[in-house]
Amino acid sequence: MDKKQIWQAALARLELTLSKANFATWFKNTFIIEIIDNEEHIILATPHAFAQAWLSKKYHKDILNAVQEVTEGKIKKITYEVSLLGDEKTAAKYEQQNKAVSVGQEENLSNQNKSEKKENTLGVFNLNPKYTFNTFIVGKNNELAYAAARGVAEFPGEKFNPLFIYGGVGIGKTHLAQGIGNEIIKKNSEAKIFYITSERFTNDYVDAIKGGKMKDFRLKYRSYDVIIIDDIQFLAGKEGTQEELFNTFNEYHQKNCQIVLTSDRPPQALSAFQERLKSRFSSGMIADISEPDLETRIAIIKAKLIEKKYNFDDNVIRYIATEVQRSVREIEGILNKIIVQYELRRIEPTIENVRELITVYNEQNKKNVKFSPQQLIETVASFFDVTVESIKGVSRKKELVTPRQIAMYLLREELDASFPNIGSELGNRDHTTAMHSYQKIKGEVAANNRTKKDIEMIRERLYNGSYE
Ligand code: ADP
Ligand code: MG
Repeated sequence: MDKKQIWQAALARLELTLSKANFATWFKNTFIIEIIDNEEHIILATPHAFAQAWLSKKYHKDILNAVQEVTEGKIKKITYEVSLLGDEKTAAKYEQQNKAVSVGQEENLSNQNKSEKKENTLGVFNLNPKYTFNTFIVGKNNELAYAAARGVAEFPGEKFNPLFIYGGVGIGKTHLAQGIGNEIIKKNSEAKIFYITSERFTNDYVDAIKGGKMKDFRLKYRSYDVIIIDDIQFLAGKEGTQEELFNTFNEYHQKNCQIVLTSDRPPQALSAFQERLKSRFSSGMIADISEPDLETRIAIIKAKLIEKKYNFDDNVIRYIATEVQRSVREIEGILNKIIVQYELRRIEPTIENVRELITVYNEQNKKNVKFSPQQLIETVASFFDVTVESIKGVSRKKELVTPRQIAMYLLREELDASFPNIGSELGNRDHTTAMHSYQKIKGEVAANNRTKKDIEMIRERLYNGSYE
C-alpha cells in the first residue's frame, strides 16, 4: 500500500469510532506527508495548529491503532505537522512546481531578500530610508494626514504639536510618521530624530526602572528634537509607562520640540488610558487614514511596480487592486509573491495565474496560525480590557457579551474550531450558543461597522504575536 492508501484505510476505520462532527472537524485535509525510518514512522499533515494539537493530544491513540491495523503493526510512531500548503492537492501541486526550480535558486533569492531587508532597516535614528514622502501615494483616504505630515516636517514643533495619526492596520501610519523624520533630516542633517514603537518605549522604561537607571533614561529620551512614538495603543493599562510618557510629552511640548504619535484609533477611543494623556494627544492635530479606494490602490500598485522596476498589464493591475482591498501591506505582500513567481519561473502574470496566487496567499495567511485558542481568548480579553475569567463567566453584561461573541467568531474563523469546541472553550456553553454568536458577529462584520474594525485590530495583534 502507498501512503495515500494507508491513510484512506485508516480514515475509514477512524470514521467508525468517532462522531460524524468530530471526524469531519479534525480529519478534514489531513494526509500523510511521508513515511520514514524504515517505514515505521508516519509524518502526518494537519491543516492548522489547532488540529495538530487536537489530533496529537486527543486522538493519537485512535490514530495509531487505526494505522497499525491497516499496516499490520508496522507503524510505530506518528508525528503531527502543520502543512502550510493546506490540503493534499495544493501540496502536491506546489511540490511539482518546485521541482522545476532548483533549490539553489530559491535560496539565493531568499538570502538576497534578507540582506536587502537588513540594510534597509539600518537607517539613521531607526528610520527606514524607504519611508519617505516621495514614495507615499496620496489619495482621498490619506490626504489630510499627508498634508499635516508635510506641515510638521516643514515647521517641526510649531504647527501641529502633537500630530496624532490614526487608522487601521497596514495602511501607512508608520510610513507617514517616519516620512516626517526622513524629511526633517533631509533638510537639516543636524536634526535629532527619535523613532520608537510604544512597545520598545515600555521595555526601555521597565529596564530603566529595574536597573535604577531612570536618570539615564530621561537624559537619552529628552536629548532629541523630534520624537515619534508608533502604535501608542499598546500602552493601554500600563500605568507607569503612561506616567513617564506624560512627563516626556510635557518636556517636548515645552521646548517646542515636535511629537508625532500613531495609533489604531482616535485619542478618545483609547481605553485604559489616563484622561490627561488623552487630552494631551488631542491638543494638536488629529488626522486619520482610512482604507484606500480602488483608484488609490491602483496608483499604489503602479508606484510599487516602478520602484521594483516591473511592469504588469493594466488589466492585471486592476484585477489585483479589485481583489486585494484590505491594506497596503497586503497589496505589497501579494505583489512580492507575484514577482517572485515571475523571477523564478518566468511566468508572465495574467489574471488567471494571479487569481490563483491570491487564493493561495489568502489561504496561507489564514493557516499560518501560531496561536492557541487560549491565546486567542486572551488577546480578545486584553483588547476589550476585560479578564479572561469574565469572558468565560456567566455575566450577560454588554461589555462582556460582545468580547465573548467576538472570541467565538474568531475561534471559528481563525482556528476552524467546531461549535461544540468553541462552546466548551468559552465557559462550557452550548454549541447552539456558539453558532448564534458566530452568525451574529458575521452579520455585523458584513455590515462593515465598528465590529469589523475591532476584529481587524485583534487579528493584527494575534498575527503579530503581541498578546503578552
Ligand atoms: P501601518 O503602520 O498603518 O500598519 P505601514 O506604514 O507599515 O502601515 O504600511 C504598510 C506598508 O504599506 C509599508 O510598506 C508602506 O510603505 C506601504 N504603504 C502604506 N501606505 C502607502 C501609501 N499611501 N503609498 C505607498 N506605500 C504605502
Ligand atoms: Mg505601523
